[in-house]
Amino acid sequence: MTLDPASKSAIRERITFYRELGVGPLYRRAVDAGLQSQDLGEVLVDELSAVTDEISAYQENVAQESYLATSENREDALRVILDDIGPNCQRCKLGKLGRKQVVFGTGDPHAELMFVGEGPGADEDAQGVPFVGRAGQLLNNMIAAMGLKREQVYIANIVKCRPPGNRTPERDECDTCSPFLMRQIEVVKPKVIVALGAVAAKNLLAINDSMANLRGRWYDFRGSKLLVTYHPAYLLRDPRQKKEAWKDLQMAMKYLELKGPAKAARD
Ligand code: URA
Repeated sequence: MTLDPASKSAIRERITFYRELGVGPLYRRAVDAGLQSQDLGEVLVDELSAVTDEISAYQENVAQESYLATSENREDALRVILDDIGPNCQRCKLGKLGRKQVVFGTGDPHAELMFVGEGPGADEDAQGVPFVGRAGQLLNNMIAAMGLKREQVYIANIVKCRPPGNRTPERDECDTCSPFLMRQIEVVKPKVIVALGAVAAKNLLAINDSMANLRGRWYDFRGSKLLVTYHPAYLLRDPRQKKEAWKDLQMAMKYLELKGPAKAARD
């Protein structure tokens, strides 16, 4: 198996992320002789063997469109919501303020874990998929650190259209759009919802409090458990907080009985 430069770079990024979380040291798992004999690069050799399987599995799954739904019903129900919104929604002013498209949500309609962000940025607006920019890369790493693949969770935002200049969505925009998110939550019925950042937390919980007070505890939310953690974009600005975010994610892992990739491989 030969690793292309993009995979090497993804692995390097993943390892750095684990280190920042304080996960490790990474250990060496038995790999086949073919892989060991490849020139995989100097320092990374030991760590690479521990995460290579995970990365290849991820790449395979990305290629498998059929992975997502096991039951037609929830997919259909989500499609109905999307149709109700319509491709050119003008219910709030974001429709006229330069957004390219509605960014509905993505992931497994049967996901036990759902992440809710604030609203699409430029990359998401261009691609029509939430969390595909830099913050999305970090969210992918957070999901992988929990032992899950992005395709196994559901990801959505409080507002489905990009606010101009990536400004914070305004009250009326959130209020207009959030009923559609509530319907998505009703269909997916996740066991755990993770609110990413203050905008998601305050809108879902209708509590106006600091992140420090909002984090670190469970909330009951429409049949799901909800917890609050930092938004990945904030973590990119202040990486020291990644350890705190990891504590939040570990709460979710404990509740969902997830072992995380490192522990799962060690067992
Ligand atoms: N930030 C968000 O809150 N949502 C996205 O989809 C992307 C960035």
